[in-house]
Amino acid sequence: MTTERVVVGGAVCQGGRLLAARRSAPPALAGRWELPGGKVEDGETPERALARELREELGVEVVVGERIPGEWVLRPGYVLQVWTARLVSGEPQPLQDHDELRWLLPGEEPQVDWLDQDRPAVAEAMRRLVAT
Ligand code: C5P
Repeated sequence: MTTERVVVGGAVCQGGRLLAARRSAPPALAGRWELPGGKVEDGETPERALARELREELGVEVVVGERIPGEWVLRPGYVLQVWTARLVSGEPQPLQDHDELRWLLPGEEPQVDWLDQDRPAVAEAMRRLVAT
């Protein structure tokens, strides 16, 4: 049996833009951009984990929406899954794990150096932004 740990990332959208977060740690990932999120804890649903991580890391409340199809291996035993999320309160701040945030319009996503594993989900999130 494989027991993969799931890391959830949030495609947080507001006003036709996607939120990108620049990691400040660990050193190997610092300076790279990601869809903010983190590890799902035992007994937690991915949706609750994402809401918790975004509260802790950015100080915001979100409503988690749809899952972006797909699953991306981070390292052996860890996979990334991504959900869309809508802000319901708070202005995102880089409280933990990040040192900069940017709201990107469709077409601006190549301006930041995304973690490789996040790129497919970023592309799909941007397609959805354009379509809505
Ligand atoms: O944020 P946290 O440290 O809990 O994330 C766990 C791991 O998941 C990180 O080491 C990072 O490599 C990875 N991650 C990722 N893409 C994301 C969020 C996290 O690759 N969008």
